[in-house]
Amino acid sequence: MLKHEDHIFTNLNGYNSYKLQDAKSRGSWTDTKKIIERGSNWIINEIRLSDLRGRGGAGFPTGLKWSFIPEKSNLPKYLVVNADESEPGTCKDRDIIRNEPHKLIEGCLLSGYAIGANICYIYIRGEFYNEAKILQHAIDEAYENGLIGKNSSKSNWNFDIFLHRGAGAYIAGEETAMLESLEGKKAQPRLKPPFPAIVGLYGCPTIINNVETIAVIPDILKRGSAWFSKLGKPNNTGSKIFCISGHVNKPCNVEEELGIPLKVLIEKYAGGVDGGWNNLLAVIPGGSSVPLIPKKICDDINMDFDSLEKANSALGTAGVIVMNKSTDLLKAIARISRFYKKESCGQCTPCREGAGWMWRVMERFSKGIGTIDEINTLYEVSKEVEGHTICALGDAAAWPIQGLIKNFRPLIEQTIKKNNEKKKVA
Ligand code: SF4
Repeated sequence: MLKHEDHIFTNLNGYNSYKLQDAKSRGSWTDTKKIIERGSNWIINEIRLSDLRGRGGAGFPTGLKWSFIPEKSNLPKYLVVNADESEPGTCKDRDIIRNEPHKLIEGCLLSGYAIGANICYIYIRGEFYNEAKILQHAIDEAYENGLIGKNSSKSNWNFDIFLHRGAGAYIAGEETAMLESLEGKKAQPRLKPPFPAIVGLYGCPTIINNVETIAVIPDILKRGSAWFSKLGKPNNTGSKIFCISGHVNKPCNVEEELGIPLKVLIEKYAGGVDGGWNNLLAVIPGGSSVPLIPKKICDDINMDFDSLEKANSALGTAGVIVMNKSTDLLKAIARISRFYKKESCGQCTPCREGAGWMWRVMERFSKGIGTIDEINTLYEVSKEVEGHTICALGDAAAWPIQGLIKNFRPLIEQTIKKNNEKKKVA
């Protein structure tokens, strides 16, 4: 359990103002210059030692990602912050931007300096209109007070931040699609390699990190990598914002240590499952794209990257969607399938055709229309989509269906059988 003094986001709920003076009273913009004076190698090494893993979904080690930036390149380097938070069930970056924007802005400066970038783009989801206004105001405050801009924080480092509003496509949150969109093109993911650290924005070395990842950087550098890596569990260090929604009594965002038991998270912070723990049916633990886990796994599972992977699911964005026994699981997964079918950019065949095909089958299954054999066909098709596409949206369309079939196959069979019996009687 995260101790009071170990919280990074002390204004996550917005009880106090986001503005500069209040942010300073919470520790933002202290020692920024001193940290920069320690040099970029020191910063990258501290982040490596902290074992921070990206908070956007994939969980890639942040320090390692930064170290891929070629030191000797004469091209400009860019930092791009992914604030295109669109994963259903996830609203953590929104609260950081609303209530702790200076943590993000200070993190941008320190991260940008570490990778040698003088320019940072924050790509914010278009629907986050109010959040964009708040963030722009906070950026303006930072410029007016000399914290960023020319000679940022008196560090001799010039650093500009541009806020760019997206136009509402989920796929723009995929890092290379985001670069395309920033360049004024349609947000379609690029083939990799080359990876953005080598060929990124405008063909230049670029690091793309999630809002939460960048917002924790100042605290790690101020309190030390050893402090951060003691929180959580080995390879799953630090604290994390969990977004708990669905059939709970008090949906909320909460910062806790990685590795906290799911049951504790739901009961302590979200007021428990609607109808009690025994009324739990399943949980989607990491945003709508990850496979659901049934109650028997929820009873003991810990919320970290490795534990959830072992349970054939994923931590993803830590968007915890709780479903009690009143849920029509087939309808819920069909609805998720429709979302990914709609958000497919259409570039590659398995995703473009497969996502739509899987959605149509799920729609039929939710009404009991189909045959038992088709369940195997649906699973096989989902396996053909998974891992055979340019970006991870193909996996995102396949995984919820795979989770359903693996854990609730009898439910699909019963729904089909019941409907077939009804037809016979009629
Ligand atoms: Fe586009 Fe889907 Fe292919 Fe990603 S997997 S590039 S979203 S078609």
